Amino acid sequence: MAANPASPEAAPTRRKAGRHRGEGQWAAGHFTPLNGNEQFKKDDDGLNVRTRIETIYARTGFDSIDPNDLRGRMRWWGLYTQRRPGIDGGRTAVLSPEELEDEYFMLRVRIDGGRLDVAQLKAIAEVSQTYARGTADITDRQNVQLHWVRIEDVPAIWEKLEAVGLSTTEACGDVPRVIIGSPVAGVAADEIVDGTPAVEEITRRFIGSKEFSNLPRKFKTAISGSPLQDVVHEINDVSFVGVHHPEHGPGFDLWVGGGLSTNPRLAVRLGAWVPLEDVADVWAGVVGIFRDHGYRRLRNRARLKFLVADWGPERFRQVLEDEYLHRKLADGPAPGQPRELWRDHIGVHPQKDGRFYVGFAPRVGRVDGSLLEKVADLAASHGSDRLRTTTEQKMLILDVAPEQVESLVAGLESLDLRVNASPFRRGTMACTGIEFCKLAIVETKGRGASLIDELERRLPDFDQPVSINLNGCPNACARIQVADIGLKGQLVTDDDGNQVEGYQVHLGGALGLDPGFGRKVRGLKVTADELPDYVERVLRRFRAERTDGERFAQ
Ligand code: SF4
Repeated sequence: MAANPASPEAAPTRRKAGRHRGEGQWAAGHFTPLNGNEQFKKDDDGLNVRTRIETIYARTGFDSIDPNDLRGRMRWWGLYTQRRPGIDGGRTAVLSPEELEDEYFMLRVRIDGGRLDVAQLKAIAEVSQTYARGTADITDRQNVQLHWVRIEDVPAIWEKLEAVGLSTTEACGDVPRVIIGSPVAGVAADEIVDGTPAVEEITRRFIGSKEFSNLPRKFKTAISGSPLQDVVHEINDVSFVGVHHPEHGPGFDLWVGGGLSTNPRLAVRLGAWVPLEDVADVWAGVVGIFRDHGYRRLRNRARLKFLVADWGPERFRQVLEDEYLHRKLADGPAPGQPRELWRDHIGVHPQKDGRFYVGFAPRVGRVDGSLLEKVADLAASHGSDRLRTTTEQKMLILDVAPEQVESLVAGLESLDLRVNASPFRRGTMACTGIEFCKLAIVETKGRGASLIDELERRLPDFDQPVSINLNGCPNACARIQVADIGLKGQLVTDDDGNQVEGYQVHLGGALGLDPGFGRKVRGLKVTADELPDYVERVLRRFRAERTDGERFAQ
């Protein structure tokens, strides 16, 4: 790798910044912090806050926390302050962070590859029930988020999680976030290549390392060798997508520069084929480019997608090969189209070893500690020690013997975890929303759950894959731009002229077969109360007017 500084202080041969106004790229010599986030990262590495949490803050309490730790570095350990209860969405934009935040934290547990064993799920369940008022949400990046966490309890939580091999290290912050992996890696009968060793190597070598603990912004990774392309590779900063190379065999196609938020972009292919054993080094090269060349002046231009858009794939690949890997990558083919629209693995499916995996759907990822404990017990009593989370806020139990499947399915269904799930259970996701998120304008989780119930009641025969994603604000945590029906939370005016919670509608977004962003339907905003009626009308019209084989997203 090129001699690139892991931190501004560590740059022995720093280049002098040119006289021109740069965008804060370290590789161009711009080491002077250009905004508050860059300043606190320069002042102290985010990873260092752990010692202060353990030795000071957990003893002296919330009020003793340095503001730059509280609203900055604590993210490096998966901790965000949560929203103070009772503050309505209309005040989100006018209150300061101090006024919006509560003294309790959201804690994100990273689950690389979505891989859990029974002991790990039980540990999460225990932490949830002991320290988080029973809360637990499965996120669309395979993590689990807990709420109502007190700073005093954080060291004990870490001890419990780390005893079973889980961590919150770099679960948030300007760092490599959780490494998303195919939930059926290593077991699916149709797998092209098992990406698990790459997920494990990246996590072992680089997560928690100061080599990449100060990036311009967050960095998202996806790795899947499944022909279903089940890791939303189109919207990650770097993705490795399983392909068969005609000469070299199975490996990965390299994509960079995807991301949603307020300036969504789909990732682009670099046309390079990467064998499994090289994935971690290539990944480190891409992250190194981001660290050194990524834009640090403006937070809203600091994601890798802006650099990729400016450079283009050819230059990006050339810099990666010449300056970071010091060798050429093989050209490779594009992945084929996924053969199915659903990529969530819900239902009962054969594994390559003759056993089965069982995918099940809670509503919008919302579970709780006691439910997770029951799921862990069910898995264990049916001979399984492996579970997975998915990028659709769902879960899987692996390694189920044929004679155990029926009993396991009955057990999950009795917990209202649907294996035989409606399209609405499968396809609806919701972000955290106003219940806990300081940026939220509207409620999402409860509304998403009740929307599922309403649609199941009103459209019991609807049989098409459909994605309905709810966000609580203009950010994109629940991927509204790539949903069939994307609902962006905002205040809207009802028939009586009152400002009430509602959603701007986006229609026709998709990933997979024909990826693209949904169209913002100009002027089409629905109040929260109108939402079930509106979605029902859209779905009925689609069903009435569709041509043979037409997908909702077409
Ligand atoms: Fe919060 Fe907005 Fe993200 Fe929802 S989309 S979790 S409201 S920042």
